[in-house]
Parts: sequence; structure tokens; C-alpha cells
Amino acid sequence: MIVVFVETTAGDDGDVLAGPSRQALTLARSLDDDVVAVAVDDGEVDLDEVAEDAGRYGAVQLHGAWHDLLDRYGPESWAAALDGLVEELAPGVVLAAGTERGGEVLAHVAARRDLPLVANVTHAEADDAGWRLQRVRWGGSLFEHTRLEAERVLLTVQPHAVDAVEVVDPAAAELVEHDVELDDVVARTRVVEEVVTSTGVSLATAPVVVGGGRGVGSAEGFADLERLAGLLGGAVGCSRVATNNGWRPHRDQVGQTGTAIAPTIYIACGISGAIQHWAGAKSAKHVLAINTDAEANMVARADWAVVGDLHQVVPALVAAIEAR
Ligand SMILES: Cc1cc2nc3c(=O)[nH]c(=O)nc-3n(C[C@H](O)[C@H](O)[C@H](O)COP(=O)(O)OP(=O)(O)OC[C@H]3O[C@@H](n4cnc5c(N)ncnc54)[C@H](O)[C@@H]3O)c2cc1C
Repeated sequence: MIVVFVETTAGDDGDVLAGPSRQALTLARSLDDDVVAVAVDDGEVDLDEVAEDAGRYGAVQLHGAWHDLLDRYGPESWAAALDGLVEELAPGVVLAAGTERGGEVLAHVAARRDLPLVANVTHAEADDAGWRLQRVRWGGSLFEHTRLEAERVLLTVQPHAVDAVEVVDPAAAELVEHDVELDDVVARTRVVEEVVTSTGVSLATAPVVVGGGRGVGSAEGFADLERLAGLLGGAVGCSRVATNNGWRPHRDQVGQTGTAIAPTIYIACGISGAIQHWAGAKSAKHVLAINTDAEANMVARADWAVVGDLHQVVPALVAAIEAR
């Protein structure tokens, strides 16, 4: 049996699995037919709705962990809840999406159980001696092939490395609810307040990302990029130069030390395409580079490029779209 710790999100038609959790379930199915999902019941999420979605991606059961202390995210409390279910279900493999939350929860479970954790896996295969794994290192700039000899293993799945594929003839996963026992001490680190500082589409899942780098020149210079992203139903991202200069918050940073994006199109404005930036942008299906330098890496990597000043090109794009 494989246990997949899943994260949930509000979809158009109710609560569903987050995209990276669907990808983790898809990878789990390639390893074992007996795939079971585990979610935390925070009192807000509708696990009946999530069970339907979990079934679509191959989970036969969805185990929901409930306790008063789980109403807000806390790495220790959520890991303790998952740990309790791992003890009960005794799977050979525990998987999670390689999101910040997935990685953090699994790291805690690994520490609690003294089990090996391999992060950012893109491919896994069992053999007689253990596991053959491929995983992403150095922010996506290389793949590592590795062997692991262990009876029980914890893996996180690199977001966007596996396409989420629905099963043929899906049936809702059977929902099994658990009142878990938790010690108060596990609630010492937990989210107490969430401040929404921006609304709209999230960078990690946006279908269109308009990114800005040093070429934008200032915080104010991002206004045109915001307008373009708004018209295209997308999100604004940026390079580390933009965050270092205080033009954008760190949550907008794309790259090795920022967010990994996978939009249908990435419009990179005034970004040179350094390897650390590309590490987070390479899963974009298409790239349009807008850059004054025809030799820039981003131009070389792009499907299309406009060689020109972004301060002219972006407003012209905005005007053309508005005119339609
Ligand atoms: C450990 C480590 C981690 C890092 N992590 C990240 C990360 O997560 N994300 C990240 O982005 N970087 C990261 N970096 C930094 C990275 O190496 C680059 O320095 C950074 O990505 C460069 O940002 P940039 O493309 O905006 O700036 P530059 O490299 O200076 O490029 C600016 C580009 O703008 C173009 N330009 C200038 N003016 C205009 C104009 N008016 N119109 C159009 N084009 C114009 C230029 O031709 C140039 O191509 C990391 C570095 C290290 C060492």
C-alpha cells in the first residue's frame, strides 16, 4: 500500500485536491494499485467532495484526520496526525507533493519515525534491493539517479514533473474519518493568522505569468505588467533582482529560491534567463521573451521573442488587447 498525504483547495465546483497532490497520486499509481490518500480535516474542507476528486486520480480510500488542533496548519500537528495514520495503515511508501507544506510535513514524519526521506522525486521504481529513484537537484538544473535500500520510504514528488492523469472509470474514494489523538505540545508552531496581501490567481498555478526583472527598472514599472497579467487572467512574477531591489515581494519570485511555475505561457520582460531563474520557469509550456538584448539566455530559450524596450512593448500589448 502507498499512502499519499494530499493537500486540498477550493475548486469551481467544491473542494478538490491541489494540482501537485493530483500529480503525486498519479506517480503513486505507477508504483502500486493500492493507493490511499490522507488529508487533514481542518473543519473547513468538505472531505466528501475531496474523496470524489481523490477517486478520479486513483485513490481507493481517503482517510481524514480530525482533531481540534488541526484547524490551522502546523507542521508538527499535521505531521503527528499523518504519523498516527501511517502507524495504523502500515504502508510501504508514504508520498506527498513536493510543495512547501508537503515537504515540511513529510520531513517531520521522517524525523519522528527515523525513516529516509527523498525529496523532489520525478521517477521511482522498486526492485529486489530497494528503490531506484530519479530526483531533481540544484533547483532543477540537474537530475540525480540514486539507489535507496530501505523497507519503508518517504518521498516527495517534484511539482509539475509528472502530469496528473485521471483514471478510466473513476469511483469516489471511500471516506474514512479518524479522530486522532494529539499531544498539546505539537501545537506550539501553527498558523495563527493569514493575511491576504493580494487576490487573484496564484503564481504556482497561473495559466499565464508575466514576469519582470531588472529591465523593469522600478516598483512602479510593474504597473504595466500587472495590467497585462490582469487582461490575460494571469499572475505577475519576477526575478531575484526585482525582489532584492524591493520592487516586488519574495512570494512573486520565480526560480530556484522562489516559486516553480508551469503556465501555458510565460511572458518574461527584462529578465536575462539566469540558470537560477530558469530553474523555476522551465516547466512553462511556452515562453515569450521581451528583451533589448537579442543574445540574452531568455531570448535563446523562448518560443517567441520581441527584441525591444519592454516599456514600449508591454504598453503596446496592453493597448492592443484592450482594443479588442
Ligand atoms: C544561490 C542563488 C539562487 C538564486 N535564485 C534565484 C531565483 O530564485 N530567481 C531568480 O530570478 N534569480 C535567482 N538568482 C539570481 C540569478 O543568478 C540572477 O542574478 C537573476 O535571475 C537576474 O535577474 P534579472 O534577469 O532580472 O537581471 P539581469 O540578469 O541583470 O538581466 C536583466 C535583463 O533585462 C534586459 N533589459 C534591460 N533593460 C531592458 C528594457 N528596457 N527592456 C527589455 N529588456 C531589458 C537586459 O538585456 C537583461 O537581459 C539566484 C542566484 C543565486 C546565486
